[in-house]
Amino acid sequence: MERINIATRSRTQAVDITAQVQEIVSRSPTKSGLVVVCSVHTTAGVTINENADPDVMSDVMEALARLVPRAGPYAHAEGNSDSHVKSSLVGSSVTVPVEDGELQLGTWQGIYFCEFDGPRRRRVLVQIIPGG
Ligand code: ZN
Repeated sequence: MERINIATRSRTQAVDITAQVQEIVSRSPTKSGLVVVCSVHTTAGVTINENADPDVMSDVMEALARLVPRAGPYAHAEGNSDSHVKSSLVGSSVTVPVEDGELQLGTWQGIYFCEFDGPRRRRVLVQIIPGG
């Protein structure tokens, strides 16, 4: 298993980690199968969306902010309940097929780490599962 360390810079931020995941896949002896990309945090997530127009991910992050306001009412007293809810909405992992050492993403797709309670030091685990 490999890891990607990410230092986020603001409370909410979408970080394109496609190149780092591809780099891990490229140097793996496993050339085909699946790669699982997993955030190990409860106030962040991982998703796949368009990486051609950066406005798409800023729209996604702003839509999540409108859907899940920072001010409650919430029971969790830490002040970051919106971050926890967004983490569950986005999900904590994605799975991408790998063939010939290449991520099999669509033309416009990228893998994003989504920070919902930064700035923080974050960790994403990358596990390649061999397969035909
Ligand atoms: Zn909390």
